[in-house]
Amino acid sequence: MRGAVIHAPGDVRLETRENPTIQAPTDAVIRMSATCVCGSDLWDYRGINPVTSPTPMGHEYVGIVEEVGSHVTTITPGQFVIGSFFASDNTCEICRAGFQTSCVHREFVGAGGAQAEYLRVPLADGTLVATPDVPDATMIPSLLAASDVLGTGWFGAVAADVQPGKTVVVVGDGAVGLLAVLAARELGAERIIAMSRHESRQKLATEFGATDIVTERGNEGVARIKDLTDGLGAHSVIEAVGTQESIMQAIRSARPGSAAGYVGVSHDVQLPGEELFYSHVRLLGGPAPVRRFLPDLIDRIWTGTINPGKVFDLTLPLADVAEGYRAMDERRAIKTLLTL
Ligand SMILES: [Zn+2]
Repeated sequence: MRGAVIHAPGDVRLETRENPTIQAPTDAVIRMSATCVCGSDLWDYRGINPVTSPTPMGHEYVGIVEEVGSHVTTITPGQFVIGSFFASDNTCEICRAGFQTSCVHREFVGAGGAQAEYLRVPLADGTLVATPDVPDATMIPSLLAASDVLGTGWFGAVAADVQPGKTVVVVGDGAVGLLAVLAARELGAERIIAMSRHESRQKLATEFGATDIVTERGNEGVARIKDLTDGLGAHSVIEAVGTQESIMQAIRSARPGSAAGYVGVSHDVQLPGEELFYSHVRLLGGPAPVRRFLPDLIDRIWTGTINPGKVFDLTLPLADVAEGYRAMDERRAIKTLLTL
């Protein structure tokens, strides 16, 4: 099969790789319907995460089940399925508490490289969720978004305790931040302030439900949020970048007694203990347990309630995966969808 492999920063190639096979009786192999490039793939592409050997890339996937292992009971060949970047049994205590990305049996699905024609998914019964039927092609981008960026933005909103009628700030205007705006709207927030300085992203944020845009960053950004919230700060803040500046901007934009959900993958972040202590802000974040939300998200997409697939503003064939990375790296694209 063909699949994307990173060799060094800035060097992603489409190569011939071995087809995945069933290795454990709980595995499934799926034939990809579409895949995509994640903002977090750029950490490798930019050399911020070291690339020490050629590594298959991609961890977002939707597709048709091709084959299942002998212990798989609920997932069957021919089904259209979606799963998260971590496989989970969905039965252990941690999974049942809704934190499937910390499942005691978790495995990183992306290790197989989802930017490819086929993918092995471990713990298929716990990991994969089938749609009611094989979807129409127009619905595939939205279902693919549910595999990571929508589920991650949604977790950010839930972790930030978004409540009906309240004010929410979203720090970060990548695909996750934009879909956190959509999640906040779906969860009933009245005022949603998107922090973004890029016009095309502001436009999409507004389409997804943002009521206000703040272009300032850092302390100036925090001052703008205070201006907009009677000097108090927001009821909920979602952080979707992962840098020192963005997480401090999030904590300082939150009012005492509120919650901040942080879903940007942390890179070299140091939290000042004393400031955190006096902030009265509670923090919850980490790798989003997308699996918890998948049945609900699929239902909202299936019924046409939400259209998160709009975050894909560049569609390329898998063969052009290198250009897909370049376009996102240069911020010419928010998110690249790869067709097969
Ligand atoms: Zn588990």
